[in-house]
Amino acid sequence: MKIHEYQARELLATANIPVPNGSMVTSVEDAVQVGERLAADSPPVMVVKAQVHAGGRGKAGFVKVVKSVDEIREAASFMLGNRMVSPQTPPDGLAVDRLLVAEGVDIDREIYLAITTDRTRRTNTLIASAEGGVEIEQVAEERPEAILKVPMHPIDGLSDYQARDLAFELGLQGKQVRQFVSIALQLADLFVRTDASLAEINPLVITPATEAHPDGQVVAIDAKFNFDDNAMFRQQAIAELFDPTEEDPDEMRARDAGLSFVALDGNIGCLVNGAGLAMSTMDIIKLHGGDPANFLDVGGDASQEAVTEAFRIILAEDKVKGVLVNIFGGIMQCDRIARAIVAAAEEVGFQVPLVVRLEGTNVEEARAVLEQAEARMPTMRTATDLDDAARKVCESVA
Ligand code: GDP
Ligand code: MN
Repeated sequence: MKIHEYQARELLATANIPVPNGSMVTSVEDAVQVGERLAADSPPVMVVKAQVHAGGRGKAGFVKVVKSVDEIREAASFMLGNRMVSPQTPPDGLAVDRLLVAEGVDIDREIYLAITTDRTRRTNTLIASAEGGVEIEQVAEERPEAILKVPMHPIDGLSDYQARDLAFELGLQGKQVRQFVSIALQLADLFVRTDASLAEINPLVITPATEAHPDGQVVAIDAKFNFDDNAMFRQQAIAELFDPTEEDPDEMRARDAGLSFVALDGNIGCLVNGAGLAMSTMDIIKLHGGDPANFLDVGGDASQEAVTEAFRIILAEDKVKGVLVNIFGGIMQCDRIARAIVAAAEEVGFQVPLVVRLEGTNVEEARAVLEQAEARMPTMRTATDLDDAARKVCESVA
């Protein structure tokens, strides 16, 4: 599960990690109001930032550093009125309906700091770079040695000395070191406490020296968190941060029906039981020159109603030009799938070619169900095995 930056900043603030003041708004007028409030009691630099579940906002023009309330109005109108397109969004971009208006900070240096699970090392790992900011992906690609990694102990977590060593490796000096150590330790603690799978601060900035702060200050000005979906049952406060408007509506519908569904770009709708079989089904479709429109695993014990809902979701997509049903019935009974196919045919109708491959538990009964309904499903063909099924469905959409 992902959350917005403004929510992530609140989490950081509760963990005593310094973040600039700001508020989330959904309209230009509210953005202006927050700007007036900030301008009244803080330095005149402010920042307007689109709140969407994708990065690369800075380069896309959806993070604007501004110096007046008029500029806030302009930036807010632009962001709320245009879709944001970045390498991390779908090609047609994302609609923006929330903004963060916050105090801006002067920047001397930008550092990258994140924690995630390193599956190869089987440990949570701190990742840091002295070259943080919007070019971090490029740095990681071109000069991987500029990315530092510190494994966390599975029980003791991050140790003080590890955080201190890292601060020196990042070239921090004077009072910056203690501030960084505190931030890293708090972030590590927050990561574990919230069942996060990613906690990222990019950039963590060092502000320029001032009289009050001769070594500058260490402040988080962007944050991104992902959480383990399977832990949400014990993370009530985090679960409440969920924003359904950022999710694919079909994926949400499927989730409500207990199905595991991922929308893809192709034109062959797939209904499969078991994630492994779903993966191989997509592979074999590709092998025969086709392109899957989705990944859908109905699981082992989905009800007939849930499977019918799966067909509704697949058939609602205009891009779907053919449907492949591939069931290897173990716990799932083939006749339940067959009945759901018939129900979907009656309710929605299969306007597009349908290829069905069923094998396993209750397959004879399933075939009988389909045979009886055959006359009402002129676009249906049955297949003898996986290869045959993939070939037939790919031919039918070619
Ligand atoms: P992202 O592009 O989606 O990761 O958005 P960020 O919040 O990280 O902003 C991108 C870049 O904008 C940062 O790396 C900074 O260089 C710049 N930026 C963001 N906030 C401020 C700010 O308050 N002051 C200044 N001077 N620059 C900022
Ligand atoms: Mn960033």
